[in-house]
Amino acid sequence: MPDRELPGVLYERGPRDEALPLLFDSPHSGTTYPDDFDHVAPRGQMRQSEDSFIDELYAAAPEHGATLIGALFPRIYIDPNRSALDIDPALLEEDWPDESDPGPKSELGVGLVWRLCPPGDPIYDRKLTVAELRRRIETYHRPYHDAVCGALDRLHRRFGAVWHVNCHSMPSVSSVMAAEGPGVRRPDITLGDIDATTCGADFTALVRETLSDFGYDVTINDPYKGAELVRAWSDPAAGRHSLQIEINRALYMDEAGLERNGGFAALQANVTRLIAVVADYVRGRMP
Ligand SMILES: [Zn+2]
Repeated sequence: MPDRELPGVLYERGPRDEALPLLFDSPHSGTTYPDDFDHVAPRGQMRQSEDSFIDELYAAAPEHGATLIGALFPRIYIDPNRSALDIDPALLEEDWPDESDPGPKSELGVGLVWRLCPPGDPIYDRKLTVAELRRRIETYHRPYHDAVCGALDRLHRRFGAVWHVNCHSMPSVSSVMAAEGPGVRRPDITLGDIDATTCGADFTALVRETLSDFGYDVTINDPYKGAELVRAWSDPAAGRHSLQIEINRALYMDEAGLERNGGFAALQANVTRLIAVVADYVRGRMP
């Protein structure tokens, strides 16, 4: 698959040399705010929801045989890590005419399309139309899911198994909108496999041990278990493994100023070492 870009939506970079059944995706690092995004919350506050620079931290993935997909749109416009059914009725001026299944994230104001900007301010001074929401799903959410699912299917067909690393960052301290409540300090890194259901236990253990050996404190499924992108296509029994990695933003950036800090280069070097370890693991399990 050649490199490609859907402007404003996503990019996909394929392996540079030897191809492995390994995909990294960064759904929350996009910074291209669409022209019709008429939010009233200040842009600086909106941008706190981005997983800043995460795709850059994993940029070496294609040199190690992996495919890398990154979203270009901001997750606060429409969130690729939510089910397309997680539609918050309070966001819309009309009833949603199709199937929907709003969950706890919609209740917190951060469903498929966020209604609230952390720490809890309204994003809009109006309600959205059904046509607007449909357009966001069809122009941004669906192509992103098609790209990730398409790459996983393609690699699984070719190699008989596939490993997927879903890449995120988390605020160093929880906000009032966090499920665990405000003011909780986060570990360096949290791995999420939705309670050991989205990948083989040895894959989670490999990533945990590698990162612990690098000196990070690593937790599993706490405070984040993983969400739609590790849930949707994983099936460990069928050789489809998805694991979420959340990196504490204080390790690599000034969270308020949205700039890389002095820790960025060292973290990027360690992420590249992790990619090499994961690539070796995948290489050793190919039929
Ligand atoms: Zn994220």
